[in-house]
Amino acid sequence: MSDWNAIDAELDCWSRAGRVATFWWRDDDACEPTPALSRLIALSDRYRVAISLSVIPAKAGDALRDALIPYPAANVLQHGFAHLNHAPSNEKSAEYGAHRAARIMSAELEHGLMRLQGMFEKRCLPLLVPPWNRISESLIPVLPSLGFLGLSVFRPRCSSSPAPGLRQVNTHVDIIDWRSSRSFKGTARLAAEISAHLSARRRKEVDAREPTGILSHHLVHDDDCWRFLQQLFARTRERENVQWLTAAEALES
Ligand SMILES: [Zn+2]
Repeated sequence: MSDWNAIDAELDCWSRAGRVATFWWRDDDACEPTPALSRLIALSDRYRVAISLSVIPAKAGDALRDALIPYPAANVLQHGFAHLNHAPSNEKSAEYGAHRAARIMSAELEHGLMRLQGMFEKRCLPLLVPPWNRISESLIPVLPSLGFLGLSVFRPRCSSSPAPGLRQVNTHVDIIDWRSSRSFKGTARLAAEISAHLSARRRKEVDAREPTGILSHHLVHDDDCWRFLQQLFARTRERENVQWLTAAEALES
């Protein structure tokens, strides 16, 4: 049996229910043009799957802006500010955990957003992707006042709007196994995770409207990562009841 059967079987269930399975794709840690970034954008272009690049404001520059000009379908999200860990060594890494004063973190995030908007203009969606997918609960209600419309972390969202004026759309399937190998997680495991999220949506065990978010990190991809993404896009693009959303569309879901 193919590793992909789990996804095919679940998508057949969606089909029988007359429903369209929505997905979106977020890739983290972009700073500058690299061969891996070119490969990522080429993949997005080839399969017409919108890529949402979460870009580190303090590390990004004009070279990245220029590299994206030919690809209007590539959107930019804000990946923290400098991707620095401010948590003590006995806690999980976080740039925006409850380790610093709220006003310092707010000023940093606002500065980062202005920097990205100045560089990428309309291509920049004011959506915060906190590094390591962690953010202090107390910072979330402040985000709209800093200019953010959206927030994206990992795992099914609890609410589509975690604070007035703010929407949330998360990712659910990370193609890298950070806990052990720090490389490709394997097609069988990923197919199981994708079908599990789709199944939970179909059964309304999680927010059914939240698109299934695929998370990648182009800078650490090996050949297996690239092959998996290519196969996922090719296979889902063949199906009538699958839709890949842009980040803006995902945020409105
Ligand atoms: Zn990151």
